[in-house]
Amino acid sequence: MPLYDMRCRQCGKEFTIMASWQEKENATCPRCGSNQVEQLYRSFALGKGTSGGGGCSPAPGRSFG
Ligand SMILES: [Zn+2]
Repeated sequence: MPLYDMRCRQCGKEFTIMASWQEKENATCPRCGSNQVEQLYRSFALGKGTSGGGGCSPAPGRSFG
């Protein structure tokens, strides 16, 4: 079953449910039990910009002992 990101309109609780399409319609808030929940649509960030420049890796700390 697909996962749905939901948010309660009563208390603002965001939660994820695993349910079918019909069950999603009857989802309730796990915190306050309200059925005033709406589905969240996650937007995937596309492209974080090209990072120019040299790739300098931080030197690992050497510990003796
Ligand atoms: Zn709630």
